[in-house]
Amino acid sequence: NVDLKESMFLVSEFAQKYFHDTLLHSDEGKAIGLSYFKERGFSNETIKKFGLGYSPESWDAFSKEALGKGYKLEFLESTGLTIVKDDQKLLDRFRARVMFPIQSMSGRTLGFGGRILTNDKKAAKYLNSPESDIYHKSKVLYGIYQAKQAIAKQNNCFLVEGYTDVIQFNQAGIENVVASSGTALTPDQIRLINRLTKNITVLFDGDAAGLRASIRGIDLILEEGMNVKVCTFPDGDDPDSFARKTSYEDLIAYLDTNAKDFIQFKASLLMDDAKNDPVKKADLIREIVVSISKIPDRIQREIYIQECSRIMDISEQVLVSTLAQLVQKDI
Ligand code: ATP
Ligand code: MN
Ligand code: MN
Ligand code: MN
Repeated sequence: NVDLKESMFLVSEFAQKYFHDTLLHSDEGKAIGLSYFKERGFSNETIKKFGLGYSPESWDAFSKEALGKGYKLEFLESTGLTIVKDDQKLLDRFRARVMFPIQSMSGRTLGFGGRILTNDKKAAKYLNSPESDIYHKSKVLYGIYQAKQAIAKQNNCFLVEGYTDVIQFNQAGIENVVASSGTALTPDQIRLINRLTKNITVLFDGDAAGLRASIRGIDLILEEGMNVKVCTFPDGDDPDSFARKTSYEDLIAYLDTNAKDFIQFKASLLMDDAKNDPVKKADLIREIVVSISKIPDRIQREIYIQECSRIMDISEQVLVSTLAQLVQKDI
């Protein structure tokens, strides 16, 4: 089993090099993939740092190359890089996409995200490697290998949604950043960060739609005893597009000014939602108390009760008794 996994790692690493070389040295890769990355403002140094690549527009160019080099079909299939069709013909999973290798904490290639080159709203923008013995989506964070030292040193981790947010932040000089790759954060992913820092700043795409849904997932981070701040971006911007048009100094200043304590942010947001509807307000007060109940530290909970009492204009006693129902232990 260890041997099987090692064989899968070796195939993935071959694929990473193949896509990277294709991007930098083939005519098609340069004309299509490299010019795409250049248009997004990625430098050669950045492309190397993240091992970015390009998969050619071909049914099986990659699979043939790998087999020719002696890699076994078994492992090409188990990593999802090659699909064997009913008629036994081989099909490359990734075709005509720019490639983002997904690496482990120690820098091994686990899988890939591949982006189409157009902005066709109908096509799925990203295609990812399937779950496998080496790639467990819920246990990896994109960019963790490049970010781990900076996270420990800065004693803070920025969490973004997408691959390109991580990359653009790195290029802007902010290296303590990882992406959940579009899905809700899992306890395993939070623990990965928790080993390096207790402080996390969640950066949301400025597309309001996702905000209220994403906010629910943050209770998980509180449960791990981490300190959470959140920061939003102007409508239509994500960390990538915002960083790209902002100087390093202005970006740092923006993050400083706009990163808000999560409980305070959520309390204010819920208050805006409730307006003057007392029934709605009661529900939302319960919701914020649920968040507070996830915080393991008793003193922190107490402080947040005081804050929320002020922000939501409700007596502390009501919040305390609601909390007591949720936290049976030491209140
Ligand atoms: P880009 O700037 O290249 O358009 P993005 O990172 O801003 O990409 P979002 O739409 O904000 O893209 O999505 C955030 C992340 O969610 C992506 O980076 C990717 O990891 C994941 N994602 C988005 N769309 C898909 C999809 N169709 N299938 C799988 N994952 C996806
Ligand atoms: Mn988004
Ligand atoms: Mn984007
Ligand atoms: Mn985005």
